[in-house]
Amino acid sequence: MPNQASDHPAADALIKIEDEFGAHNYDPIDVVLASGAGIWVTDVEGATYIDALSAYSSLNLGHRHPRILAALTEQAKRLTITSRAFRNDQLPLFCEELATLCGLDVVLPMNTGTEAVETAIKAARRWGTRVKKIKEPKIVVCENNFHGRSTTIIGFSSDESYRRDFGPFTPGFVSIPYDDIAALERALTDDVCAFLVEPIQAEAGIIVPKTGYIRDAAKLCKDRGILFVADEIQTGLARTGKMFACDYDDVKPDVLILGKALGGGVYPVSAIVGTREVMSMFDPGSHGSTWGGNPLGCAIAREALRVIVDENLAQAATERGDQLTYELADMRSRNIVEIRGQGLLLGVELKVPARKYCEALAKAGVLTKETHSHVIRICPPLIIDEEDVEELAERIAVGFANAESA
Ligand SMILES: *Cc1c(COP(=O)(O)O)cnc(C)c1O
Repeated sequence: MPNQASDHPAADALIKIEDEFGAHNYDPIDVVLASGAGIWVTDVEGATYIDALSAYSSLNLGHRHPRILAALTEQAKRLTITSRAFRNDQLPLFCEELATLCGLDVVLPMNTGTEAVETAIKAARRWGTRVKKIKEPKIVVCENNFHGRSTTIIGFSSDESYRRDFGPFTPGFVSIPYDDIAALERALTDDVCAFLVEPIQAEAGIIVPKTGYIRDAAKLCKDRGILFVADEIQTGLARTGKMFACDYDDVKPDVLILGKALGGGVYPVSAIVGTREVMSMFDPGSHGSTWGGNPLGCAIAREALRVIVDENLAQAATERGDQLTYELADMRSRNIVEIRGQGLLLGVELKVPARKYCEALAKAGVLTKETHSHVIRICPPLIIDEEDVEELAERIAVGFANAESA
């Protein structure tokens, strides 16, 4: 019997294989992870780390939450995929439960966040064409947005590295500065059908808008008869300390886009949830996805929603987020510009590039990643307890000290 070590080439060998046979569209921190549980992950050499990235908020429930694994295996024993050519016994309940949780009417399930954003764009354009009678409906977006990686979506990104040489791009998008109500007011002309916005711009470096921006933006859209479309793929499902970040402003979007944590950390599930009027724009043949709404994904997502509610994870995100912010504020560092965020969606902005810090944090047993070069994300799973927040803060302090003494 081969032992585990000989079954499993060591880290360096695996990195070499990945570099040879995998496309280089990422620049990962060189830890090769082999297992995970809760907030913890272990690499092929047996070193353990606190996961402070949570797969960009996909792991709000942590790694391999027992209830999610149980839902996965129970459903896997019964039925996994039917395609939407037939009905299945999970999809109706998933739609009902998610619509109820969101306080909206109708759900359209997809798999990845990008697909859900594309779905929202199609909904908004059809509504613009059919209800508003606009010939070529435009969608207003914000500078430094992140909505995914499809050719249409990168076409309205302001990040050159996402766009370079991938054109030509889809027309029909107008980009305005984020957190600028006057700019939005000017942009909402008669040919606009929707405003697509993130309540916090996470990828841009955890950019939190001024209090009331989302409320004012949503009101402006309502007054002008334009759809307010919130991309809560990263901020939604308790990450920021409310079920949805829009809840801070008491805003109910016309279309809410969800993904990431909706899959409970084990399986890709995304969806758009909207008002009956907007969602009625979809008729048979107009949109679809082979895997979207499959019973396995629906069963997992249903359990993920229940766990988020049962474990009170929104409140946990607020409490642990406050604790972590407080502990990090104590940290001695010459290079910290600001620690900001909401709930457990936190960013530490540095005066210097953050990559070296992320490498040092990995050595200190904390995994995270730089975003927009100068910001370190600190976004552990929402199930993290008080003691582990202390442990996390201590490890971060060690990592910072090492980065700055090197
Ligand atoms: C991650 C993310 C997306 C894209 O989701 P994928 O599942 O990677 O396609 C879109 N919008 C926001 C705000 C995100 O954080």
